[in-house]
Amino acid sequence: MKKATQCVQGGWTPKNGEPRVLPIYQSTTFKYDDSDKMARLFDLKDEGYFYTRLANPTNDSVARKIADLEGGVGAVLTSSGQAASFYSVFNICEAGDHLICSQTVYGGTFNLFGVTLKKLGIDCTFVNQDASDEEIEAAFRPNTKCFFGETLSNPGVQVFDIERFARIAHQHGVPLIVDNTFATPINCRPFEWGADIVVHSTTKYMDGHALTVGGVVVDGGTFDWAAHADKFPGLTLPDESYHGLVYAEKFGRAAYITKLVAQLMRDLGSIPSPMNAFLLNIGLETLHLRMPQHCKNAQAVAEFLEQHPQVAWVHYPGLKSDASYQLAQKYLPQGTCGVMSFGLKGTREDAVAFMDRLKMIAIVTHVADARSCILHPASHTHRQLTDEQLQAAGIASDLMRLSVGIEDKDDIIEDLRQALE
Ligand SMILES: *Cc1c(COP(=O)(O)O)cnc(C)c1O
Repeated sequence: MKKATQCVQGGWTPKNGEPRVLPIYQSTTFKYDDSDKMARLFDLKDEGYFYTRLANPTNDSVARKIADLEGGVGAVLTSSGQAASFYSVFNICEAGDHLICSQTVYGGTFNLFGVTLKKLGIDCTFVNQDASDEEIEAAFRPNTKCFFGETLSNPGVQVFDIERFARIAHQHGVPLIVDNTFATPINCRPFEWGADIVVHSTTKYMDGHALTVGGVVVDGGTFDWAAHADKFPGLTLPDESYHGLVYAEKFGRAAYITKLVAQLMRDLGSIPSPMNAFLLNIGLETLHLRMPQHCKNAQAVAEFLEQHPQVAWVHYPGLKSDASYQLAQKYLPQGTCGVMSFGLKGTREDAVAFMDRLKMIAIVTHVADARSCILHPASHTHRQLTDEQLQAAGIASDLMRLSVGIEDKDDIIEDLRQALE
């Protein structure tokens, strides 16, 4: 099926007499007639449901829809995008291991990898994604287990050269994990460019209406764990908690995602509620319609801002003047997303005064939903970072992050115009 059809019909295919709409299986547990069947489920010998922390039919249907949209072999929903990023790395890294991450990633990810993972004994090196191959390669160590980047960075909206980083990661025998939140599979499918694992904060465009916090990890099924058995013992050596099962042998291309459920969901349990998965699914049903509208509006807004005398600079990969323009043409030819960043001429106080004068565009800690909104990362999302860290993450202290919604573009531009004046 094409992406539009997957958005509308994917994941849930009712059998004769079953509900047309994906049901909310609001149940912690599932009943079996005999105890042997339940035992086989616990041993991962059969597929089926027994406890919602491990799997739930509503959650699984939505995860399957996203896996199909991305072209992956399997996916698992998580309670937030943060949980998805954490699980994607922790599934293959343990104390003593190391990962490499682009330094322009979302502030929450930067803190998770740079501070919290460190407390678990996992080291992260942040690299400039514009650096030369030699500089990037110098960051690899014998204990490096993965490379992490964002298709479109939040909030800088820089395009990640997926093919290049996949090549470098694979040369060093590790998978590439891509956070595809801002692009969504409608505009870019990282697996087609060599990524091995994709994560999302579904809180953003996938939900699209700012209703539910959520995340997803998608397994591309592309990475050959057995070929790098020494690096990934968790996938290639027996798991004693499942009677010596070896994930890479038993589950093949779905080894990574099966291990993630069997171990991390079992032990850490960051699941979404089935109700939230149901709401996410409603958002996904219109993702293919909303994304082009976000892009069309954002292009018009970016062009308006770029020519306005009060505006000092605009970053939007759809602008020919943007540093990411060429990469955007390659990876996201139909458009990038509705998010852009810009700065005003004048002081930091002028920027704050501008935001306070907006009438329709709301100041909220959110991006990528139907309603236009704005945020000042230096005083909001990224306020934990020092000035040096801000600079390293590509965030100027005057940077405003504008998320263009799907209202009429003329009304969005008019609101910006009156506030600028
Ligand atoms: C918001 C966001 C996250 C974190 O997701 P939550 O759902 O807020 O936990 C991770 N990555 C990117 C790119 C984001 O925009």
